[in-house]
Amino acid sequence: MKLPEESVVHGSPAPASPPPAAQPQNLPALDRLLRLPACAALLDAHGHTLVANEARALLATLRAQALAGDLALGQIGADALAGALAERLQRRLQPAMRAVLNLTGTVIHTNLGRALLPQAALAHIQAMMASPNNLEYDLASGSRGDRDSIVEGLLCELTGAEAATVVNNNAAAVLLTLAALAPGKEVIVSRGELVEIGGAFRMPDVMASAGARLVEVGTTNRTHAQDYERAIGEHTALLMKVHTSNYAVQGFTSAVDEARLAPIAHARGLPLATDLGSGALIDMSAYGLPPEPTPQQMLAAGCDLVTFSGDKLLGGPQAGLIVGRKDLLTRIRKHPMKRALRMSKLPLAALEATLRLYLRPERLAQDLPTLRLLTRPLADITATAQAVLPALQAALAPRYQVQPVALQGQIGSGSLPVERLASSGLAIAPVDAKGVGRALAQLAEALRALPLPVIGRVQDDRLLLDMRCLEDAQVFIGQIGLLRLSDKR
Ligand SMILES: *Cc1c(COP(=O)(O)O)cnc(C)c1O
Repeated sequence: MKLPEESVVHGSPAPASPPPAAQPQNLPALDRLLRLPACAALLDAHGHTLVANEARALLATLRAQALAGDLALGQIGADALAGALAERLQRRLQPAMRAVLNLTGTVIHTNLGRALLPQAALAHIQAMMASPNNLEYDLASGSRGDRDSIVEGLLCELTGAEAATVVNNNAAAVLLTLAALAPGKEVIVSRGELVEIGGAFRMPDVMASAGARLVEVGTTNRTHAQDYERAIGEHTALLMKVHTSNYAVQGFTSAVDEARLAPIAHARGLPLATDLGSGALIDMSAYGLPPEPTPQQMLAAGCDLVTFSGDKLLGGPQAGLIVGRKDLLTRIRKHPMKRALRMSKLPLAALEATLRLYLRPERLAQDLPTLRLLTRPLADITATAQAVLPALQAALAPRYQVQPVALQGQIGSGSLPVERLASSGLAIAPVDAKGVGRALAQLAEALRALPLPVIGRVQDDRLLLDMRCLEDAQVFIGQIGLLRLSDKR
């Protein structure tokens, strides 16, 4: 029921509920809204342009609501309007990229930003980005320098390589390597290693973009030394191994490893390159983790070039690292694509600081967040789950039941695809057996709407929250009071 127009315009007190509806003409004009004393602080904080834009948009929204008979007079008082405007401004200024809680159980999660940067890298970025620096300037001679030199020495020391360079990411490292070493020529790869990494990185497509011709040898499950030998011809530029980082070929299989393939390539005067994908710089098994091939092992086995990522197991920023023979790296560096794919000073600062941590291996499990999370003791993870449980159960009762649960997590990002990490967390199940899918979707949505969005995973009619990556339970507990479940069933 609507009140007579009269009583609304003059704002006379309404005799009874429902609350009096506002008409479009009850809304203030833009400049009257901006002159409200309650808006002064907003103008002061943000300036006229943004506040006026948001005020205009707010008034348009309210006008539409009024026309639909959907706006109460109480919503257009001075304080209500200023409050609504402040809320719009806050939303507008909130960055689109936000911190989240990764409770998916996958430590290096590509969709959630992969490796967390170590403190040392964050501090170095801060110091280097706020000031001019010697990115391409040789302080000893006072002349032009090369940005590669910032990390080349460290990379050579850590991997045993003769030379090294860095580009924007590992996809770029592979692309550049192929473009520089095999333009218009053939590159031999086993059919069992033609990987697709998420996000349109498919080895055959990368070959084509680099102008190289892919020569597939062997079969999906078995490739032999003779397959490579027979495929080598006058147009061959390179033999390539690709680490099958996100799948495993099991059963009746056979592959030619680098130590056997290197002499075959070298006998014909050809280089052997390996794309390791993740590529750990340390022996993961020393930390009780499944072993992952290292660039140093690949070089020792006879590979001439190794490419790997900066933000996977290495635990640094997005980067593509190429290490290996000096003459090949000189050709790679000279290719025009190098300039287009070069690393920016920002990740370069982070990469240098991260690599320096590897000089102190005894401290690495503390200093490198990725390794710290991967080696976090199970008892610790379980204790976090226990700490979160009571507050979460209280917030979700009576619709959901929360229980502690043993979980299997993953390293992630195409590292060690079949290995699982014993972990621990909470399983949340709807109490009502009807509409379970919908109830779980609503719960997941409410968790994502928290100030620090909580990302879990749905499995077997439960929402699972793996606590491995929640090092401080309070960060989650502190925002549980803000959890809002919609009533729609
Ligand atoms: C992850 C991966 C890449 C791509 O690395 P980015 O750093 O993400 O560009 C290439 N090859 C393999 C085998 C990988 O696992």
